Amino acid sequence: MSQKRVTAAIALGSNMGDREKYLRGALTRLERTPGVVVLRRSTWHETQPVGGPPGQGLYLNGAALLETTLDAHALLAVLQAIELKAGRERGVQDAARTLDLDLLWFGAESRNTPELTLPHPRLHERAFVLAPLAELVPDHPLACGQTVAQQLETLTGAPS
Ligand code: AMP
Repeated sequence: MSQKRVTAAIALGSNMGDREKYLRGALTRLERTPGVVVLRRSTWHETQPVGGPPGQGLYLNGAALLETTLDAHALLAVLQAIELKAGRERGVQDAARTLDLDLLWFGAESRNTPELTLPHPRLHERAFVLAPLAELVPDHPLACGQTVAQQLETLTGAPS
């Protein structure tokens, strides 16, 4: 019996330690996960931290497209396990982190639970997520009614 394959998008971010190593390591771990294929990744973008305590370092952000036979919760659990392996500590909201992985969308799935909201509720507010995503899927429609590239332009005033 063939399993359903779904295309999902994730955001990656790091602002502690060897940031690029954490981002690359996350993709390597995803590639080694049964039922997950990394289709494409963006370049890395250096960005200012948004929110959180003062004095944090700059972020390195990226995005990747995955194809998976896992369901959305199982994929989120994989992302959270990879964050933990990278030494991510949860506690202070928006505090500096070795690795942050967010599930941006999972096919056309829409859900709103505390553990998992899809599409990601703040996706269209964050230029640091949209800019790398625009390298991969500029024409992807967002819940706000704009495409990724249009919404990035709305936020930054610059065409991608
Ligand atoms: P953060 O600390 O910013 O990584 O937020 C992680 C928390 O948000 C976890 O408790 C997740 O269960 C929850 N969450 C809800 N929706 C999502 C999503 N689409 N991607 C990642 N985490 C999510």
